[in-house]
Formats: sequence, C-alpha cells, structure tokens
Amino acid sequence: MNALTFQGKEKISYTTVPDPVILDPGDAIVRVSCCAICGSDLHVYHEREKGIERGTAMGHEFTGEIVEVGEQVKNFKTGDLVMSPFTTSCGQCFYCRAGLTCRCIHSQLFGWVENGHGLHGGQAEWVRVPLADSTLVKIPDGISREEALLLGDVLSTGFYCARQAQVKSNGVYAIVGCGPVGLMAVIGAREMGAQKIFAIDTQPERLEKAKEFGAIPIDASNQSAREVIQESTEGRGADGILEAVGSGPAVKLAYELVRPGGIISSVGVCTDANLAFSPVEAYNKNLTYTIGRCPARFMMNQLVPLVQQKKYNIASLFTHRMKLEQGAVGYEIFSGKKDNCLKVLLEVG
Ligand code: NAD
Ligand code: ZN
Repeated sequence: MNALTFQGKEKISYTTVPDPVILDPGDAIVRVSCCAICGSDLHVYHEREKGIERGTAMGHEFTGEIVEVGEQVKNFKTGDLVMSPFTTSCGQCFYCRAGLTCRCIHSQLFGWVENGHGLHGGQAEWVRVPLADSTLVKIPDGISREEALLLGDVLSTGFYCARQAQVKSNGVYAIVGCGPVGLMAVIGAREMGAQKIFAIDTQPERLEKAKEFGAIPIDASNQSAREVIQESTEGRGADGILEAVGSGPAVKLAYELVRPGGIISSVGVCTDANLAFSPVEAYNKNLTYTIGRCPARFMMNQLVPLVQQKKYNIASLFTHRMKLEQGAVGYEIFSGKKDNCLKVLLEVG
C-alpha cells in the first residue's frame, strides 16, 4: 500500500510500505477513506519530538471501513464504517475504567514507531487497529466523515481542555492559540456555559473563526491580552486559561493571564525541558496547572450527541482538501499556515 511516511526533519514522502496484516486476534484492518493532518503531526515533522523511525506511516486522525477483523473481534464486521481516537485502548484496565483511555496500560499512539515497536499511522491506504473492539466506534447516524475525523482528536481535545479548566457559568476564560484544538476549546468552554471567552492568536482568519464560535478575539500582534482581560475582570485576570499551543511563550502567557487561584489547562504539547513558570511563581498565584493527553475514546462517546445536533459548523475547520499522494504539500501548507490554512483533509483512494 501507499502511505505518507516520515523521512526526516520536514520531509514527508508518499511511499510504498508493506500492507498491514492482522497480528493479534483483537486487531482490525481499516481501509482509510479520509484522514487529516494535526498540529501534533507538526511536532514530528519539525523534529521537536524525536524518536520516531524513518519510514513510519504518519498520522492519527483517520476514518474508514473495516476490511478484515481478527478472530476475537466481536463488535465489528467487514463493511462497518468506523472512526477512531488517536490512541488505542483496552476498555478494561484501571485507566480505561476511570475514563483516562489515553493512559490505558495497552495504549498505543497511531503514527509512532520507535526502535521497531509501535503503530503505523492513518495517513495511509490501510491501517491496523489493535484492540479494535474497545478502540473503534461505528460512525453514528448523522455524523459526517469530517465530523468523525474531528471527534477522534481535536474536538475531543478541545472539550477535554475545557473540562480540565473546570469552566463555570459565571467565569471569564481565555483560550491561548486558535488552531483547530483551540477553536474546539472555544466551543467546549461555551457549551460548559462560560460567561466570557477570549481567544488569543496572531492569525486574523483563525481569530475570525474563534469569533464565529462565540469568543472575543484578541490579536496578540497588536493588542495586549493582559490589558484586555484585566479590564474585564476588575484587574484580577481570567478564571481559567485553556492553552492549546504547546510552546514556552504560550504557557508563559497563560501564566500572566490567569488570576490568583485560577486554573491553567494545557493540552498543547510543549517539548521544552522546563515549564515556563517557576514553582514559586505558581505558588504566588495559588495556581492549579493541569496538562496531558486527551482521553479521546472516552470523550468521543460524550460528544456524539452534540455533533449530531449540528449546532456548530465544525467541518468548516477543513480549509484544504487534497489527495493523500499530495500530503507532503499538505504538510508544507499547514505548517506554514499558507493560504490561510486551518486544517488539511486528505482523501484516500
Ligand atoms: P496548530 O499549530 O494548528 O495551532 C496552534 C495555534 O497557536 C496557531 O494558530 C498559532 O498561530 C497559535 N500560537 C502560536 N504561538 C502562540 C502564542 N504564543 N500565543 C497565542 N497563540 C499562539 O495546532 P493544533 O492542531 O490546534 O494543536 C495545538 C496543540 O495541541 C499542539 O501542541 C498539539 O500537539 C496539541 N494537541 C494535544 C492533544 C492532547 O491530547 N493533549 C491532542 C491534539 C493536539
Ligand atoms: Zn491530532
């Protein structure tokens, strides 16, 4: 089959790789119908996250049709249309039962092969899905392929970010970063009833989208987020910050914007060696800081009804569509935010 494979820093190629096969009786093979490029893929692309092997099929946002199941798979049969969270999970361990499916003791991340171990990704014609019964979800009625892709990662992650920030109805919140994840965090905060949501970025079209989803945009290239937020909170700062960038400056900004006793909820993957604020700075603000991978398999179930309502046009995040074979160009456009690119959908086959 063909897949978009990692070939070194900023080098993604459309190459022929071995077809995936059933390795375990709980596996399923999915023929991918479409997949997407995520901000998390960019950490690999730019080699901010190291360790992934050359030749690894990239990507963890995919949807498609089951073409083969292992003999222990009970919930799916060939022909089922499925969506997938970005990590696998067993559904039975301590973490799965606690709703922290991303920390399942058997969990694997799609698109990560290191020292010969791991799982190839979904930016490919086919993908092997271990623990298929507890990982995959049949695409429910009224959910499009685009929405299914977003449920598997960025929508779930945005809502998880809001949940971790303990958004309350009388609170003032700020989203740092209006990429796909930050935009879904805007919706998450809104659905949890936030009174006021500020959204911070430097990209005008992304800020426009944040406004469309219900936030007050702050363009950090010509406005001081700190001043704007202090003005609307009697000088206190925001009750919670939803950080969806994954960089030292973004975390530092979150620290500056949060009020004493407030919460910073980070879903951005920051690969720096240290946190952007010190223990004593955290102490001096009585800060609660929460960070981590989204338990997407758990969140997906909860978010299906909202997506079915079509209250928000989340599929509008996909500003660019192209064939899988053009994926290398997709990476360049998405990483460079060229042509106002917000998210790339890759059609397979
Ligand atoms: P993206 O790169 O498309 O978006 C990041 C946005 O942040 C951009 O619009 C950029 O202009 C903005 N930005 C950069 N620096 C900023 C700053 N200092 N202040 C304000 N805005 C700034 O990425 P995405 O797909 O939206 O993903 C965002 C982050 O979430 C990434 O780090 C990604 O790895 C992470 N992520 C985490 C999980 C999880 O489970 N925790 C899941 C998916 C993605
Ligand atoms: Zn992703």
